[in-house]
Amino acid sequence: MSTEATLLERCESKCELCSSESALSPYVVSPHTQVTVDHAVMLCSTCKDQIEDPESAEINHWRCLNDSMWSQVPAVQVLAWRQLKRLSATKGWGQDLLDMMYMDEEVQKWAEIGMNDDEEKPRDVNGVELKKGDDVTVIKDLPVKGSSMIIKQGTAVRGIALTDDPKHIQGKVNGQTMFIIAEYCRKK
Ligand SMILES: [Zn+2]
Repeated sequence: MSTEATLLERCESKCELCSSESALSPYVVSPHTQVTVDHAVMLCSTCKDQIEDPESAEINHWRCLNDSMWSQVPAVQVLAWRQLKRLSATKGWGQDLLDMMYMDEEVQKWAEIGMNDDEEKPRDVNGVELKKGDDVTVIKDLPVKGSSMIIKQGTAVRGIALTDDPKHIQGKVNGQTMFIIAEYCRKK
């Protein structure tokens, strides 16, 4: 089943934050950049627009978090937590809900990493920042653009380099330098 089909099944064709059934699409929860079942949330266009442009936020729309903050899906918890955090600056009920919310330690870390709006950095599958010289393992088979080669899952890439694009790192595989999607790596 495709990622999107799996997500649609999980959300029962309803926005995972406000339960609206209109215009759903997957939204990747930062610092992740790829649509995967674990890192994406199905959102309606209203939720998506307001998350992307917090200035336009219609406060009462976010009363929906009262329900969605109890979702079992970590990505939904992270989004709910971040929205409540923003709301809590001006709304008492935002803080009240935040106080009631419970997240596993790892999920909490994910929520906090994405709150820092500083420049984008390449991050591995766990959201750990990747730096020049790090060793990583590729976590899934990756086709190499413009060739029939595949970088196999489990391939170790030593001493990576960074690129201008935070989504990609550069590394040597079988003696050849190539670009690899940062999020499909795990830092060793
Ligand atoms: Zn929604």
